Amino acid sequence: MFEVNVGIIQVAYIIATILFILALGGLSNQETARRGNWYGIIGMTIALVATIIGPVEQNYQYLILALLVGGSIGILLAKRVQMTQMPELVAILHSLVGLAAVAVGFANFMDPGRLSHYMGVELTIHDIETYLGILIGAVTFSGSIIAFGKLSGRIGGSPLTLPGRHWLNLLLLLGAIWFGREFVIQSAAGAGIQPLIIMTVIALLFGIHMVMAIGGADMPVVVSMLNSYSGWAASATGFMLGNDLLIVTGALVGSSGAILSYIMCRAMNRKFIAVIAGGFGTGGGTAAASGAAEDQGEVVPVDAQETAELLSNAKEVMIIPGYGMAVAQAQHTVFEITKALRAKGVNVRFGIHPVAGRMPGHMNVLLAEAKVPYDIVFEMDEINEDFPKVDVSVVIGANDIVNPSALTDPNSPIAGMPVLECWKGETSIVLKRSMATGYAGVQNPLFFLENTRMLFGDAKTTLDEVLKAL
Ligand code: NDP
Repeated sequence: MFEVNVGIIQVAYIIATILFILALGGLSNQETARRGNWYGIIGMTIALVATIIGPVEQNYQYLILALLVGGSIGILLAKRVQMTQMPELVAILHSLVGLAAVAVGFANFMDPGRLSHYMGVELTIHDIETYLGILIGAVTFSGSIIAFGKLSGRIGGSPLTLPGRHWLNLLLLLGAIWFGREFVIQSAAGAGIQPLIIMTVIALLFGIHMVMAIGGADMPVVVSMLNSYSGWAASATGFMLGNDLLIVTGALVGSSGAILSYIMCRAMNRKFIAVIAGGFGTGGGTAAASGAAEDQGEVVPVDAQETAELLSNAKEVMIIPGYGMAVAQAQHTVFEITKALRAKGVNVRFGIHPVAGRMPGHMNVLLAEAKVPYDIVFEMDEINEDFPKVDVSVVIGANDIVNPSALTDPNSPIAGMPVLECWKGETSIVLKRSMATGYAGVQNPLFFLENTRMLFGDAKTTLDEVLKAL
């Protein structure tokens, strides 16, 4: 339909690539994140337009239909989704990237012109690209669906430990390699669909087993790992289609996801291989599903009035937000309280754990939405040593990230994970609705310490009362 110079398309692709790199750079810092998003949006628009008027040569009606359907679903989802559902949305979007890689792979293989386009070594290379694309895509697809189930609480958080599961994984891997060889041999003779389908089933099973075997506490690594896989799946699709932009974009997502997985592993003091091998994590499940507290003694409840007094009399206050702040949507009230305290001369800071909430950067997004200034928001590593000087720590809907048993109990599912050591301060006030456990399904000894006070109730409601009392 369009006659466009190939050079113009290449230039557009290079500009889009540069914008994607700038987008990733921007997203690494709160102050530049908004700009980073815009770079990404402009880059993607250029990429889409260049692809539509460039490499696509026919069947525009289907393309426009697919764009309209996909675009409308995307807009609808983005408008409807609650902040607390973001992690599940991200997981399900990863699954779509995997599914697309599988679909493109099969379409590529079934293309009648395939054997006339490629011959000899070129055909073998093309077949390997197709095979790998479908393999990574299928693992990403089924793994992300299970991650979606776990993050939304539809599937329990406890790891599935099948007998001989490492052998099972090895068997699936060897099967995938063997059928790959079969596929390449048969493909040259115009066949090969059978080994391709068998491998797809193997890859789907592998994806399900891999994520099912990972316990709740290790889910942050899974989320970033599937993010990385979806990038490699897109990159493999780029190789299949001979599209440079898709190769580069996929590689950017793949490598940045891999770096994020590394950061998450370091934050949780886990070895990547140990997480992937699975079996760590919870015996309990999600906060909602978890059972009652083990009896560890008495807790000391406080009300909003007493909390306001403790805060007003403090010089140093540390706010530690967690998943419950997202559930309660309490971030705006938190900022109002921060402003009120700062007006009284109290130094208020925020301490952010790298795996707080349900997705990387979850708390930073919420605080940015409430317009909390970035210069009072600190990473765990920056402020953990300051707790002995803190008068009051306010733990808002956080649990696992302030659990001292991570440091003291080697049998805990979160053993070894660095946590925010708020108990070293003078007083900790914990806001939550009940004595239920957090995502990792373990009881928290912090609640029973002498210098801890429990403010029970929905965090938004109780914080509104605290604000009124202030
Ligand atoms: P947790 O899930 O450990 O604890 C959240 C707490 O919030 C619960 O104890 C719950 O108690 C409380 N809560 C829930 N709703 C409300 C409400 N409306 N008002 C007040 N309190 C509420 O969250 P953390 O942020 O401390 O830790 C994150 C956990 O999630 C870690 O285990 C991490 O590994 C995992 N994870 C993190 C991901 C990431 O990428 N960041 C991804 C996947 C998992 P109650 O029910 O009694 O109110």
